Amino acid sequence: MSLEIEKVKNLIIGSGPAGYTAAIYAARADLKPVLYTGLEPGGQLTTTTDVDNFPGYPDGIQGPKMMVELQQQAERFGTDVRVGMATSVKFSSKKGGFHIVTIDDKKEIHAKTVIISTGASAKYLGIPSEQRLRGGGVSACAVCDGFFYKGQEVAIVGGGDTAAEEATYLSKICSKVTMLVRKDHMRASKAMQHRVRASKNIDLRFNTEIDKVLGEQVVEGLRIVNNINGKKEEIKISGLFIAIGHKPNTDIFSGQLDMDSDGYLITNGKSTKTNIHGVFASGDVQDKEYRQAVTAAGTGCMAALDAERYLAELQ
Ligand code: NDP
Repeated sequence: MSLEIEKVKNLIIGSGPAGYTAAIYAARADLKPVLYTGLEPGGQLTTTTDVDNFPGYPDGIQGPKMMVELQQQAERFGTDVRVGMATSVKFSSKKGGFHIVTIDDKKEIHAKTVIISTGASAKYLGIPSEQRLRGGGVSACAVCDGFFYKGQEVAIVGGGDTAAEEATYLSKICSKVTMLVRKDHMRASKAMQHRVRASKNIDLRFNTEIDKVLGEQVVEGLRIVNNINGKKEEIKISGLFIAIGHKPNTDIFSGQLDMDSDGYLITNGKSTKTNIHGVFASGDVQDKEYRQAVTAAGTGCMAALDAERYLAELQ
């Protein structure tokens, strides 16, 4: 069965700050962008609360609200925002050729330019007891699921800014938060560490890892291990939050676009150009260093400008 085909000048995959900013610029440059949102419209910021570090909001803004406003701004200039998932790609190696992106295995978009802003997804520890209890008390999003553990004891794994932010958030809802950090120090910024230490009901444990998540149907506790002396201990909790970083969403581009050893797309110098003519990457999918909403938005703008220049060169 042949799939429906639609030809476009500019296709944007992903709906985080990078995708929407690319859309604002592409639409204003009359590239008539079509944007597919992916499975999580609005991206990672829809699972966060206060965004206090995006310029222009002196009192901060809620992440989900900011994403709705970014979408509205992109639509105001004519971006065609659609719900759908890119399921496979076939990029043209010829300059000026059409790149084929299949949506939901149902439709083919043939695009002169493609901007990839597919972001990154939460990582899990990968131990069997954790995997088995995903959805049964194991979560990678405190802001989404913390409410279910109101007044209860929970644990969080990780020592970065996400873990620190989520631990602080949980400490306001839950009776106690045990924070497990595998090293003897946290990677989080000093300001975030300070917030963790100032929260009286966060029990911060260094050099500590999870040996097993306990419970049959739902999380009932953890067996934790001190990685210096090997001492094991069981603690009772009803929710476990994993905050150990993210994996770039690049599986469908494997074998076609250059990636680093962690799967992040490689862009050329200061630009957003990938190794394929007319295919550009912006946001967390190509940035494992800064990973901020504002830097993602910045590279989204760059990708749209790169796409516009590429199309102008073809004429
Ligand atoms: P990070 O990669 O910065 O931190 C991951 C943390 O998880 C580290 O402490 C790491 O330990 C730990 N970890 C990784 N794997 C395991 C494992 N298997 N078992 C136990 N612990 C593990 O990720 P984040 O998501 O925290 O942050 C990503 C980026 O987003 C950063 O640049 C951060 O600054 C930024 N950010 C900014 C925020 C803000 O400004 N408001 C909020 C949230 C994130 P180790 O140190 O030992 O490797």
